[in-house]
This record gives sequence, C-alpha cells and structure tokens, in this order.
Amino acid sequence: MQIEYLIIGQGISGTWLSYYLQKENKSFLVIDNNKANSPSRIAAGIINPVTGRRHVEVWMANDIIPFAHNEYSQLGKELGITTISQKNIIDFFPSPQMRISFFQRIEEKANYVSDYKVQDHFSNHFNYDFGCGEINPVYTVHLDLLLPVWRKKLKEKNQLLEEEFEINHLKISDNKIQYKKITADKIIFCDGVGSAENPYFNLLPFAPNKGEVLLVEIPDLPITNIYKKGMMLAPLSTKGLWWIGSNYAWEFDNHDPTHLFKEKTEALLKEWLKVPFKTVDHLAGIRPATLERRPFVGLHPLDPSVAILNGMGTKGCSLAPLFAKQLIDNLLYHRNIHPEADVTRFQKILSRSIL
Ligand SMILES: Cc1cc2nc3c(=O)[nH]c(=O)nc-3n(C[C@H](O)[C@H](O)[C@H](O)COP(=O)(O)OP(=O)(O)OC[C@H]3O[C@@H](n4cnc5c(N)ncnc54)[C@H](O)[C@@H]3O)c2cc1C
Repeated sequence: MQIEYLIIGQGISGTWLSYYLQKENKSFLVIDNNKANSPSRIAAGIINPVTGRRHVEVWMANDIIPFAHNEYSQLGKELGITTISQKNIIDFFPSPQMRISFFQRIEEKANYVSDYKVQDHFSNHFNYDFGCGEINPVYTVHLDLLLPVWRKKLKEKNQLLEEEFEINHLKISDNKIQYKKITADKIIFCDGVGSAENPYFNLLPFAPNKGEVLLVEIPDLPITNIYKKGMMLAPLSTKGLWWIGSNYAWEFDNHDPTHLFKEKTEALLKEWLKVPFKTVDHLAGIRPATLERRPFVGLHPLDPSVAILNGMGTKGCSLAPLFAKQLIDNLLYHRNIHPEADVTRFQKILSRSIL
C-alpha cells in the first residue's frame, strides 16, 4: 500500500489530523489499537477558558476556544451529530476563601467569570453553603459520540487499521517510510503517551500524569450545566449518565483505577448531591502532559519523514483542532507553527537522539 501519510493514533489529535488531511484530499491511513482507557476515550471533553484556584485565563484562550468551537460545530454538521455543546460551569465555592477569591476576580474584571444572580437556583439538587458563581462560555465536546463516528467513517473508506503499531517494524529512509507493507511519505505520531517511549521523541520533556474518573447515574440532575465543587460533574451523551473527576498523579505504579479515588469521590457526591446517584464505572488514563505545558507539534528536526502532534496534556479538546490545522498548513504550505508549540524548539535535545 502506498500513501502520503501514516498516522499513529485516533484519539482527539489523530481525529483532527485525519479530518484536515481528508479536506486536503491527501491519501492517508490511521493505525489505532482502540485502547479503551486512552485519555481521549475517558475524558469529559470540557473546554474551560480558565484554570486553577485563581481562575486565570488559559494559554491562547481567545484564539484556541473560538477556533475549536467553530471547527467542532462544522465537523458535527458534516457528520450529522452534535459534537459540541455549551455547558457553562456552575462553580459551587467549597469554602468562604474560595468565594472571596472568585469575587475578587470579578472585581478585577477578569474574563469569563461572573456572579450567579439566583443563588438558590440549584438548592433542590445540591448542598452548597458558600454560594456559587458562573464560568462562561464553557463547552463540552461529545467525545463518546465523535470518536466512534469518525472511526466508522475512516473504516468505511479503508483509512483505518485497527491494530497495535509496532515501532520495530518501522524503517525510515530518504523522503519515505516503510511500515510492514505500507509505504508513506511521512509518519505522524498522535499516539499520546506512546511517543514518550518512541526512540524518535523520547527525549522530549513529557510529564505523563494519571487521572481517574467515575461514571455515575444521576437521573434527576438538570443537564443544562457542568457543576464544580473541587471536582467537575459533567453530563455525558447517554441520558442520566454523568462524569465526575478528576485527579492528577505524577507518580504511579500502574495505569489502574485506585480504591482511594473512588472512596473520596463518592464521599464528595454524598455530601454535595441532594438527589440519588449510582456509580456504574471507574476508569483511569494517562494524560500526555509536558513539563512546560505546551504541545509538541511539527516535523522531527533531524528527520523530515517523521512528525508529531502530541503533548496535549489536560486540554486536548481545545488544543487539538488548532494545532492539527497548524501542522497540516506547515506540511502542505510551509506556514509557521506557533513557536511555543513547534517541536523544533527542542532541536538540540532531539539531535541527541539515538538515531
Ligand atoms: C481523566 C481525564 C480527564 C480529562 N478531561 C479532559 C477534559 O475534560 N478536556 C480536555 O480537553 N482534556 C481532558 N483530558 C486530557 C485529554 O484526554 C488529552 O489531552 C487528549 O485526550 C490527548 O489526546 P491525544 O489524541 O493526543 O492522545 P490519546 O488520547 O492518548 O490518543 C492516542 C491514541 O493512539 C492509540 N495508540 C497509542 N499507542 C498505540 C499503538 N502502539 N498502536 C496503535 N494505537 C496506539 C490509542 O489507542 C489512542 O486512540 C483528560 C484526561 C484524563 C485522563
């Protein structure tokens, strides 16, 4: 088989990359092992414009979020599904200090945070002693719909191989790559934490971290919003099903869910909710995070047949559309990738690679 691009991984990064290649009428194949606990398959898909206890605006919020919203909406139209919905966060303050800090941000005229006028609006469903505020706009990407629907489309066009990619079968020569019976001009790694062990990119400063989530049935909760109190509680596409998470562990012995997270999260739900809930699943995944919290995008500086779209960390849903587009524009039209994301910033480090 002869193609232009071989993509490894159909998480949210590989999905966007293959979408833009299709738009450009390029020939490609995606290899994906459909790993059930890959972060793209267990994430809530939240696109939140602020971060941390101080509700600071996220990196490039004004560029990345409107772009993502437009692109998901367009893709949804093409696929005939809803891929993105606005679900503002109702932030229930866990302490008086957090309430003070939130209102300070409003006084500072920070973007995206506002007072919630009817403070007792949620009192039939939640216990909250210190009031609430609103983060607006916030979106959820319906990954549980989008990824399988895009996968089906790729399969129908014979553009997906559902199997494990084994790097020891990869051969790189001048201006082409060979993988088993596949010859391609370029290989692009969108394999999440897999790239942290890949000899082409293992010297990049990846900082993988583990996150856990519970899936819970809460039939009586209005799906108008995402709710937050220490953790995020977000509605999923299946009626009555909710996602609650997450935590961040930089040191871990295995990829399994832990009893401690389940206990802590169920205790929070018992104290917070006034309506019944039932835990139906508990999942854990490893985020492809990076030390400097910026993605890795572009061609390998030593080998122009090898490229990467990775390092999406905690924000794959917002970052993947823009950086997939920038990578395609770079490969096809030699346009620049944002310097803070362009992997050539690690040229020196990657030159030490064993290749
Ligand atoms: C608990 C949790 C909650 C999160 N919540 C959010 C959120 O609300 N919003 C948000 O934006 N981000 C969230 N994230 C982060 C987000 O999930 C990641 O940023 C994003 O999914 C990364 O996508 P990716 O496609 O780059 O990598 P991945 O999701 O890791 O995708 C890689 C793909 O490659 C495949 N693959 C890997 N190795 C191989 C191989 N050798 N052969 C074949 N296939 C292979 C995998 O099966 C997978 O399909 C969350 C993460 C976790 C763990």
